[in-house]
Order: sequence, then structure tokens, then C-alpha cells
Amino acid sequence: MSSYEAVIGLEIHAQLLTATKIFCGCSTAFGAPPNAHACPVCVGLPGALPVLNRKAVDLAVTAAVALGCDVQERSVFARKNYFYPDLPKGYQISQYEQPLALGGGVTLPARLRQGSGEAGYEAGKFVRLTRIHMEEDAGKSLHEGFADSDRKTYLDYNRSGVPLVEIVSEPDMRSAEEAAVFFETLRQILVWLGVNDGNMDEGSLRCDANVSVRRSGETKLGTKTEVKNVNSFRYLEKAIQYEIGRHIDVIDHGGRVIQETRLFDAAQGKTYSMRSKEEAHDYRYFPDPDLPALVVDEKRRERIAASLPELPDARRRRFIAEYALPEYDAALLTQTRGLADYFEETARQSGNAKAASNWVMGEVLRNMKERAIEITAVPITPSALAGLIAIVEKGTVSSTVAKEVFAKMYDTGRPAAEIVRSEGLAQISDSGSLEPIVRKIAAAHPEILDEIRAGKDRKFQFLVGQVMKETKGKGDPKLVTDLLRAVIDA
Ligand code: ADP
Ligand code: ZN
Ligand code: MG
Repeated sequence: MSSYEAVIGLEIHAQLLTATKIFCGCSTAFGAPPNAHACPVCVGLPGALPVLNRKAVDLAVTAAVALGCDVQERSVFARKNYFYPDLPKGYQISQYEQPLALGGGVTLPARLRQGSGEAGYEAGKFVRLTRIHMEEDAGKSLHEGFADSDRKTYLDYNRSGVPLVEIVSEPDMRSAEEAAVFFETLRQILVWLGVNDGNMDEGSLRCDANVSVRRSGETKLGTKTEVKNVNSFRYLEKAIQYEIGRHIDVIDHGGRVIQETRLFDAAQGKTYSMRSKEEAHDYRYFPDPDLPALVVDEKRRERIAASLPELPDARRRRFIAEYALPEYDAALLTQTRGLADYFEETARQSGNAKAASNWVMGEVLRNMKERAIEITAVPITPSALAGLIAIVEKGTVSSTVAKEVFAKMYDTGRPAAEIVRSEGLAQISDSGSLEPIVRKIAAAHPEILDEIRAGKDRKFQFLVGQVMKETKGKGDPKLVTDLLRAVIDA
């Protein structure tokens, strides 16, 4: 057995977030009844003329510029000819020889969630892109869900003509985990830019994985297989891992990997052959005579470049520098643009970045996770959270009570100060009110007082706890400690 190196390149299809399709005015809304959004252009009736969607081009250029690609001044839409029932025109319009953009890449960040850990990946690595091109999506064949589905296939053309970008990477990844991190990072950037909604369940983001292996030290690429349409990060990792293992197995047994397209069966955790290279199509590409070349001039490119938001990587680095956040915290807070905005606004309004990050990473993220909601659905505004931070800073409430106040703010939408006032939650920080309670607790536990006096100081926390319980968590912990010490030392 010799050792092998895996080589992976991804092809990602991302739906551009436009209201209408790429070459007609039909809606792109998800979930409409079958064929509610289909017109003569969508299904390619003779004489129907495609007209390019300006917004789709702007979004594709936005992605290309953000990913550091060279946007081509001139790109060409071609016809990719093949017959399939979900493609009634007999061809898909796609850029081919002259794509919208070349080059660019993505830097892999430190990973937040625990990966499989199998082969690991290299944080900080730059994964190169080959190209980004625009194309239209095809329709959908429905093989089940109808009374006569055993005999018939139904066709839904709502997706026909939905605008896509295809993003092709160089074969730069060396493990399944690295490929998953690359895909996650790309998804984060596209969603951040508002170019794509990141919804893999609805098919608006899809990934094909190309996998090969070679003996360590070998520089020539091995024969690749392509695993089509893996629609979750976990499955992507599993599918690639399975393929790597399968290739190694074939070679170790003296065989040769056959270049082919495969599908991943999630239930079995295995890939299986869909079609071999011999059955591969000859697409007979040629420039679409109905569409002029797409010209993206410098002015348009620069206007788009100037309107780009600060990207996740830059924002993460700025959070570290500007707010003295640890690397991990900054990565967590820049998962989405909405979360980063929320944190930063809270930090600005409270003037306390440390507290803001603690709250957002703690209670805010916990609530989002428990309720499976986005930051935009959190009912506590940054300014309301800053209000809570202010009263904690002033010592009006303890940090324990503050969590209770947060929960009440979440449920009622009332401001922190009002909740504290109306529910009498303010911290008790005058010795006049606390001392009688401290004395009462001390009197109830004479044996513990003796133990502490005899040196068993860890019993002290028990007494503090009793006083806090008596005050329903409202006793000022510092003052409680001082008063208890005084009683014990008396
Ligand atoms: P094809 O002509 O089969 O579409 P391409 O050269 O266009 O192949 O590459 C498609 C994708 O496959 C790209 O992401 C590329 O990086 C990747 N790729 C190409 N060759 C290999 C290989 N030998 N091993 C792994 N990935 C590869
Ligand atoms: Zn249409
Ligand atoms: Mg190719």
C-alpha cells in the first residue's frame, strides 16, 4: 500500500437573486404551482426572443469582483445542445468559450464547526477559481407525487430560465473537509453579497464535486470522477470521502479509475455510476444567434466594485483589530452580515464592545439557535440591548438577573430599564437592606460559620449562595461578600 493524495475541484451553481428570470419577465419565486411561471421564452417556443436581465448581470459581476476575478469586457452566450424533457428548447443557454470572468479565489478561514477531522484542512489557504460564467437553469422532472406517477413523468418549467452563475474552482483542494470549507466560505460570501440566498434545500445553491487521487509526490493529475448535485455540506464531505476511498481501493487492487459521472446516495453513504465518459454528450456549442455579446464596460465594473460591502474576511480582521476580539469570537460574529451588523451596532450604541460580543455570542445566538431563526427575526434591537448593557454596567442589575431581563425583553419587547423598574429587579446594593438578610443567614448556619473560622473557606460560597437565594439573585455580590466576611470575622 502506498500513500495517496486526494485532489478535488468543485463546480458550484448559484441562483442569482433576481425577481425575474434571466431572459424573460417570468417570476423566479420558489414554491409556485407547476408551470405558473413559464412563458414562450422559458420553454423556447419558435419566435420567442430572449432579452438579458440587467440585474442578473449586475449580481454576477458583483460576485466576480468580490471573488477577485478578472471580469471580461466581452462575454458570449452559447447554446449547449442536448435533449432532455426538462429542456424543451433542446439547448441550454450558457456561457462557454468566453465566460464572464476568469481567475480569482477564496481564502479559507479557520473553521468554526468541528469537521470530521479525517484529513483536516489548511486554514489560510487560497483556493483558486478557474472561471465564473452565467447560464440559465433547466426545468424539473417530477417522477413522484401524482396518482399516475408509476406511468408518467410530469414536467415543471418554473425553474427554466432561472438565472445562475456557475463557479468553477481549480483542483486545489486536498481533502473532503477542505472542499466543504471552501464551499461554506463561498456560500457565506455569496449570501453576504445578496447575490444568492444560500438555500440548498430549495436548490438555489448546488455543488458538483470532481475527485481524483494520485500517489504522494506525483504531480500529474489522476483520472477524475464527478459527483453530481450534492446538496448539503455534510453529504458533500461524505460523498468525497467515499470517492477518495473508492479510487484508492481500485488502484490498490491494480485497477484503473474510470472517468464518469456519479450520484451520491445519502441513505447508503455511497456513490454510484450515472453515466460514463463514453456516454458523455457532445454539446455542439455555438454562440446563440438571438443574443448579442455581453459587454461589461469599465464604468459598470467600477460602479459595482465601489458598491461592494466590506467582505467577511476583512470584517473579521477589523473586528479583531478594532474591538480587541479573539479570533474565534470575530469569526463567529461575522458568520452573516446581519449578525456582524447587529454586533457592531450594539457595540457602538453601548460603547462596550466586550459586553456586546458577550451578549451576542451568548443569549442572542442561543435564542436564534433554539428558535431556528435568523438575526433579523430577533425582536431585541441593538439599541435595546445597549440599554441592558448600560444598566448592567451601572450595577443596577447583576449579570444573573440581566439574563432574566433579557428573556423578558425578548418575550415582551419592553426596554430593559422599564422591566427592572416595574418588576423590582434592581440589584440591592445598600448595606441597610442587605445586612439583616446576611445576619439571618449567618444565624441559621452557626456550624458553617465555625467551619469557615476553622479554615474551611470553601464553605463561604455556600453562604453567599444562600443570601443570593434569599434576595432572589438581586443582592450585590461584592457587598454580600463584604458583609458576610464582616459577620464571620466579628
Ligand atoms: P470537464 O471538462 O470534465 O468539465 P474541467 O477541466 O472543466 O473538466 O474541470 C471541471 C472541474 O473538475 C474543475 O473544478 C476542475 O478543477 C476539476 N478537475 C479537473 N481535473 C481534475 C482532476 N484530475 N481531479 C480532480 N478535479 C479535477
Ligand atoms: Zn418566461
Ligand atoms: Mg468543464
